[in-house]
Amino acid sequence: MTKLWVDPSRCQGHARCYALAPETFSIDEEGYAFVIEGREQSYNEDNVRKAIKNCPERAIKLDETE
Ligand code: SF4
Repeated sequence: MTKLWVDPSRCQGHARCYALAPETFSIDEEGYAFVIEGREQSYNEDNVRKAIKNCPERAIKLDETE
């Protein structure tokens, strides 16, 4: 299964992902993005693809899991 996640070591908190796909990404109290629970499989949705492409830090990742 493929899982969407944000690498906290790369995220710089521009919130572009949140602006493009607010139903999938949220921002924590320090301004860094994370994938909302239950939205880890939303990577094929148009606005989520756009968010992945537009992250200037390439912090939005897709991982294959068992
Ligand atoms: S666009 Fe990228 S760097 Fe910016 S908040 Fe989202 S994941 Fe972090």
